[in-house]
Amino acid sequence: MGLDRDLVANADQAGTTIHERMARLFPICRSISGKGLRETLRLVGEEVPVEIVETPSGAQVLDWTVPSEWNVSAAWIENSDGHRIVDFADSNLHVLNYSAPIDRTVPLEELREHIFTHPTDPDLVPYRTSYYVERWGFCMSARQLEGLEPGDYRAVIAASLEPGSVSYGEAVIPGESDEEVLLTTYACHPSLANDNLSGVALLAELGRALARQPRLRFTYRLLWGGGTIGPLCWLARNRDCVERIRHGMVISCLGDPGVFTYKRSRRGDAEIDRAAAHVLRHGASGSRVLDWVPWGGDERQFCSPGFDLPFGAFSRTPADHFPEYHSSADDLNFVRPESLGESFVSLIDIVDVLESNATYVNVSPHGEPQLGKRGLYRGVGGGSSEELALLWVLSLSDGTQSLLEIAERAGLPFADVYHATDRLGQHHLVEQVG
Ligand code: ZN
Repeated sequence: MGLDRDLVANADQAGTTIHERMARLFPICRSISGKGLRETLRLVGEEVPVEIVETPSGAQVLDWTVPSEWNVSAAWIENSDGHRIVDFADSNLHVLNYSAPIDRTVPLEELREHIFTHPTDPDLVPYRTSYYVERWGFCMSARQLEGLEPGDYRAVIAASLEPGSVSYGEAVIPGESDEEVLLTTYACHPSLANDNLSGVALLAELGRALARQPRLRFTYRLLWGGGTIGPLCWLARNRDCVERIRHGMVISCLGDPGVFTYKRSRRGDAEIDRAAAHVLRHGASGSRVLDWVPWGGDERQFCSPGFDLPFGAFSRTPADHFPEYHSSADDLNFVRPESLGESFVSLIDIVDVLESNATYVNVSPHGEPQLGKRGLYRGVGGGSSEELALLWVLSLSDGTQSLLEIAERAGLPFADVYHATDRLGQHHLVEQVG
């Protein structure tokens, strides 16, 4: 098994492709529902076949009620001279995401109650939402707000907040088994690049790479939806399907130059946890593996105790840990093709471990088999790392330890252990048992 790496784009190609796809998606005003989210899912569907699933407003999904659908066509604030001081047409961050519609002229003091500014940087426009509490609002830089003259301002938000539906997109790439790997990301942020168009575009590229594989062990299910409500809608509809999920991961924030971060599942020792930690340990330097905490992203839903899925979270710098987070500074210049490419390769490496991991038994376990006569061992001074990998596989393949566990104990990259096992198999010295 294992992926055919020749069919996977290299890091440079993938990084450039992902960045180009992000640039195409960047201007769209997304939210947890509405036309922008659907348009995003439609564009993702040009890369990998995506089914768009709608859940109606008012529906009960687990403990949540699906909100009204939000759409916005225009919004601005103008001063008494009719001059627009902020305009949705310039940046969709200027509108409080999920803002109620408004068209009122109010004095500056009252307008201020509806303006959100960045908590630390006076020049940045923040990204703010109000999904479950109805209010109207705008976002602007603190510097611009300070400069506003007293007087009346007209605030216009041409938005609708009405019964409709919330959407998620789902792509299924069939494998030999109906056991599944579920990879998800949130697609609800408007014009922000790292958080989380990087995840949206990278998951599409991963789907494209997996769909090109002639043979997959697992069936892959990829999800794009609104944060929190998207996974809740999916989980509520698919309670019977969750038993088939063998591995899962939320991917997000993968275009910044920071080191990789993997957050373990609630279980803490799931195979996906060990696979991701292993790939990071043997890959880019300085990566971090964090233990489970019950806050963060959509892994909270998949790992809730009723589901308790083996679900980790993979990012570079996690959301809210980079200064550009949720602000106008998280733009297309902040994300780099080379970072996206590295992220893509790391994800492919993790998937490759999941596809290839298996348990073997040494069929000649009484004494060491004579490797030299089979051309497997030259035995000149201590043995090469390739030869050491053969010895590790023979020593630990007693039917209880997987190749990943052997690689961990041996301190060797998974690929070396896999390759050694393949060679031993060709000489009928090991047999796969699980
Ligand atoms: Zn975010």
